[in-house]
Amino acid sequence: MNPNNIPQFLAQKKQQHLYRSTRLAESAQQPLMQIDGQSFLTFCSNDYLGLANHPAVVKAFVDAASHVGVGSGAAHLINGHSIYHQQLEEELATFTGRQRALLFSTGYMANLGVVNALVQRGDKIYADRLNHASLVDAALLARAKLSRYPHNDLVDLQQKLGKQQSGDKLILCDGVFSMDGDVAPVTQMAKLAKQHQAWFMVDDAHGLGVLGKRGAGLLEEQGLSQDDVPVLMGTLGKAVGTAGAFIAGSEDLIEYLKQTARTWIYTTAMPAAIAAATSASLKLIEKETWRREKLQALIQQFRSGAEQLGLQLMPSYTAIQPILLGDNATAVQASKTLQQQGILVTAIRPPTVPEGTARLRVTFSASHTEADVNRLLDALAKL
Ligand SMILES: *Cc1c(COP(=O)(O)O)cnc(C)c1O
Repeated sequence: MNPNNIPQFLAQKKQQHLYRSTRLAESAQQPLMQIDGQSFLTFCSNDYLGLANHPAVVKAFVDAASHVGVGSGAAHLINGHSIYHQQLEEELATFTGRQRALLFSTGYMANLGVVNALVQRGDKIYADRLNHASLVDAALLARAKLSRYPHNDLVDLQQKLGKQQSGDKLILCDGVFSMDGDVAPVTQMAKLAKQHQAWFMVDDAHGLGVLGKRGAGLLEEQGLSQDDVPVLMGTLGKAVGTAGAFIAGSEDLIEYLKQTARTWIYTTAMPAAIAAATSASLKLIEKETWRREKLQALIQQFRSGAEQLGLQLMPSYTAIQPILLGDNATAVQASKTLQQQGILVTAIRPPTVPEGTARLRVTFSASHTEADVNRLLDALAKL
């Protein structure tokens, strides 16, 4: 970008309703928030279980910080790997039914690191067209051949896999699609991966905590083992309510990543207090099944109410319930109208979603109440 062209670039983004800017949150992550000096009922957080500000999670964080300080000081391979990191990795492995788990500082970094460790130039990646940006970037960075199949299209995926080719193969998808809320047909995909001797990696950023009896995510819900899905990625900044991410898989896979995943090797370990807070959060996720049950009840309430209003929903049973609006200006205007009524739902536009599919991305949390959902529906009725 030529510096002289930046003003024009910015003006154009504004004109196209594609200009992005931050809001200033002045309170903790919870349904009722003070934002930009105004009070909002929010439906846009990924804190699906209401744990980001849970007293037990905060306490674990504070207690650990008072023990071991804030900064971890070094990468995991130097001397930054604390007892809290170790304990959390063991708990995550047990929780997800895998042999081992490895912590990363963010989900974005986990995806970059793992994909680049598993495939290189000459290998092939099969990726859903609606995959999260971090998976797309991971694939581009790996310089493997990238083959993108239409969303959840198993026939196309199978055809692509069947084409004669050398090198290693990796099938890559979101478990729950972050902007649509629907899930990948992971059971059939696991079969295809085995038939074609391909790696299969699922990014369960939005399934972890929300799906499965114990909250271990889409793979628990579908009963898929480490043998079925050898590479599981989960993030900790969404339903888990803390920060960071992990890869869970076999002993061999994790030891291999420790030798090769550059976004794990060459970065400072996440603060140990975050790991301690995450351990506290995992306990709540497993024990407090009411959070998932309540979330499901709110989702059902919303879907039946929105259908009565004639809104265009998407086939989702997860906490992500987008309302499809189409063009960018309509989505931005709808979000503004809701804001005037004290409700915050963000408009999602291209390039985050395909052209012509701008939408309101409504998300729910176990901390919402039935009355909150009714308030949202009333506001939507006025659009
Ligand atoms: C949020 C998200 C990520 C990135 O995780 P961070 O920890 O926020 O970096 C990766 N994949 C998917 C599907 C996501 O929704």
